[in-house]
Amino acid sequence: MIGFARARLLLPLSNSRGRDERIEDGYVTYQPDEILEVGAYTDEVGQQLLSKHGKLDVLGGTAASTVDELISHDGVLLPGFVKAHGHDHESPIIGMVKDVPLTAWLDGAVNLFTRFLEERQDALSAELGDSPHFMTYLKAKADDLYYGITSAMTHHCNFSKYRVDELARASETAGTRILIAVGSQDRNYYEKLLDIPHTLAIERLDRAVVKYADNERTTILPGPDQFFSNGPEILKALKAWARDHGTLLHCHSSEELGTTEWFKKEYGMTPVQYGHHIGILDEHTVLAHQVQTTAEDVAILRDTGTRIVHNPLANTILGSGMPPIMDMLEAGIPVAISTDGSGSADNQNILAAARLASQYQKAHHQRAQNLPAQQVLEMITIEAAKMLRINAGSLEPGKAADLVLIDLRRPNLVPTRKTNVVENLIWASDGSEARFVVAGGKVVKDDYQLTTIDVGDVSQKLSWLATELDSYAEQSGELRGTGAPR
Ligand SMILES: [Zn+2]
Repeated sequence: MIGFARARLLLPLSNSRGRDERIEDGYVTYQPDEILEVGAYTDEVGQQLLSKHGKLDVLGGTAASTVDELISHDGVLLPGFVKAHGHDHESPIIGMVKDVPLTAWLDGAVNLFTRFLEERQDALSAELGDSPHFMTYLKAKADDLYYGITSAMTHHCNFSKYRVDELARASETAGTRILIAVGSQDRNYYEKLLDIPHTLAIERLDRAVVKYADNERTTILPGPDQFFSNGPEILKALKAWARDHGTLLHCHSSEELGTTEWFKKEYGMTPVQYGHHIGILDEHTVLAHQVQTTAEDVAILRDTGTRIVHNPLANTILGSGMPPIMDMLEAGIPVAISTDGSGSADNQNILAAARLASQYQKAHHQRAQNLPAQQVLEMITIEAAKMLRINAGSLEPGKAADLVLIDLRRPNLVPTRKTNVVENLIWASDGSEARFVVAGGKVVKDDYQLTTIDVGDVSQKLSWLATELDSYAEQSGELRGTGAPR
C-alpha cells in the first residue's frame, strides 16, 4: 500500500521547488523505494490520491479509503536528517574521560572500549546473546532514529574496522541507510591495529565491497583514520581503490593542533598541503573536521574540490578549536554539518550541531547574519546528501522515502507557524521532538516508539556492558600510543 503523510507544515528543501519553500498543510506519498508526490493538501487532492492509489497507509493513522481518514498532524514534515560523519562504536562511552584533549580521550575512552570489546567478546557475547559490537552499533542506530537521522556515513576506524558485518547488520535491522568508511592505520598507532603490509587494508575493502555489492542501502568506501596514522603509500593505495570503485574517500583531517604541528615538523607542510602533495584530494574526498586551516589550505581545498564535514559539538567539547567555516563557504567549498561520534559529541542531536555551528560563527565574527537557520538546515539535509552522493535529503518525487515529522505540539515549539518554522527548528527545538520517522518507506519511529529496535532491551544490555567496561578500565588503565604524536 502507498504511504501517506500529512502535516500542518512541510519543508521539501528541494532544488526543484526552491529550497526555502514552506508549505502549509502539506502531504507526501511514498512507496518503499521512493517518494511519489509532494505538495499542498486539499480534500480535492486527497480524493484524487485515493482514486489513483486506492487505499493509503496513513502515517500515524489507518489504511484510509476516505478523505476523512487522511489525517494531518500538528507537526512539520521534512526529509530525514543526513549525518555526514560519525562513529557508531561510541554511544556506550558517553560522558567518559571528559575535560581532556582529543588524544587523551582517544586513549582513555575510545581505544580502551574498542579493545575491551575485542578481548572480551566471547564472554560478553554469552551474556548479551549477540555480539557486543552488534549491540553497540544497534544502540547507535537507536540514537540516530531518536533524532530523526535516516542516513549516516559511519567512519569505522580503530578496532571497529574489523567489524563491518556487525555494523551493516545493525543498520539493516534499524532500517537506515549507511555508508561505511572502513578504517585503516599503518603508523603512529596502537601496534596491534597496524595494517602492515598495507595491502591488509585493501583486502578488507575488497571483501566488504563484494559482500555488500547488491545492498542498495549499505555502501563501502575507504576510511583511513587520519593522515597522521596512515603513511603516504597506504593513502595513495586507498585513493586508487576509491577511484577504481567509484567511491568517496573519507578521513579525519587537522582536528587538533598537535597533529598539524607534527606535519609541519615532519614534512614542512600542513596536513592539507600534504594530502594535496600525495594526490588524494579531489571532489570525491570528504574530510572530517579540518579545524586547523590556513588561507593556503582553503585555496587548496577550493581548487581540488575537496568536501568538509564540520562537527562543532566534538570540536568544542574536546577544545580542538573551530574551522574557518565562513571562509570555506565563501570560497565555494561544500560543507556539511554533523555530530561526530556520541563519545565526543556526546549525543547525536544533529539539530543541536546545526545550531552550534550557526551560533559560533555569529559570535566569533560578531555578525548575526552568518549561517541563517535555513542554511544550516540544508547542511544537515540536502547539502549533506549531495556530499555523500545519496538520493536523499529532500522531499521530492523520485527521492528516497526518508522523512521525519517534528512534533509542533511540544511547548518549546509553540507557537510555530509558516513564518518561523525553520528558525524554530534550529533555535527552539531541543532535538527530541522527532515523533515519526520513515526510512526507505518504512515507519521506523511511530509516535515516539522505535519499531525496528527494542530500545528497552538494548539500553539494559548497554548499561550492563558499561559496568563491565568500568571494571576492565580499572585493571587496564588507558591504552596509550594512539591517535596523535607522543
Ligand atoms: Zn570523527
